[in-house]
Amino acid sequence: QGLIKYHRLSSGVFSARSEKIHAVDGVSLIVEKGETLGLVGESGCGKSTLARLILRLENHDGGRIIFDGQDITGLAGKRLRCIRRRMQMIFQDTYASLNPRMTVGAIVGEPLANYRVGTRREQKEKVRQLLQTVGLSHEHAARYPHEFSGGQRQRIGIARALALQPDLVVCDEPVSNLDVSVRAQIVNLLMQLKKQLGLAYLFISHDLTIVSYISDRVAIMYLGKIVEMLPGGDLAVKARHPYTRALLAAVPVHHPRLRGDKELLVEGEPPDPVSPPAGCRFHPRCPRAQEKCRVSEPLLEPIGAGHQVACHLAGA
Ligand code: SF4
Ligand code: MG
Repeated sequence: QGLIKYHRLSSGVFSARSEKIHAVDGVSLIVEKGETLGLVGESGCGKSTLARLILRLENHDGGRIIFDGQDITGLAGKRLRCIRRRMQMIFQDTYASLNPRMTVGAIVGEPLANYRVGTRREQKEKVRQLLQTVGLSHEHAARYPHEFSGGQRQRIGIARALALQPDLVVCDEPVSNLDVSVRAQIVNLLMQLKKQLGLAYLFISHDLTIVSYISDRVAIMYLGKIVEMLPGGDLAVKARHPYTRALLAAVPVHHPRLRGDKELLVEGEPPDPVSPPAGCRFHPRCPRAQEKCRVSEPLLEPIGAGHQVACHLAGA
């Protein structure tokens, strides 16, 4: 049944022209216990909105969210708070997400204080352990975020996310702002913590190399919809959707395993989400588009083991 399940989740806001923009449009996803689900797409495709919906930081206007067997769609107040502590988030921007006026110890211990977990002394001890868990020292607790490098600041963010022993951690582009040289360290730390603590991750990224490396399964998102879903290890070789192939083609050549179809390089900007194209939303940019694609919307359908694609030509 999965740790968390989103059924036909949608979210919209009204634009200046009073039209509904659906950043997330009828997305269904399951994250299993202890699993990493990678979520890939261009910026503006709805990945971050989906993450915020999942954590109930933003309200949805359609669909249901089931967490550990419990329908949390309409949950509010104390009961929502109770569930929310089991889902934490790691952010892309460690400047914006770590309060510069708080010490590292106060930042990491804040969730413990908010939820009144243990005594002050127990909280301090827990913070020491958390810093060690993420490869920092307890001596760092008295210092401030600006005294640390980007990679170390992300470790602080991870320690804070782990404080309440969550089941699910949503990682929103956690290494995109880091130097290439420290990305692997943080990715490996996340993988090690997952194993050690039995965490499940929703790992949002536009970096296909990292996503295929870290994810058990990968979901590809385009204009608010999931267009392909497949095992992480199959991404490079088995991806079928023209959009996925195009993303793979854009991966720098020093990752030869992840080679896509060069002729499928996606050109142009994603269309305006206010009025998504009819039929297949990808058709204006798809080099394989046919007449049918302009009128009929392809559904996400199974084409192999753990592999689903939303494309009229996927079976062909
Ligand atoms: Fe391209 Fe048509 Fe497939 Fe959409 S349905 S991805 S337009 S071939
Ligand atoms: Mg984003």
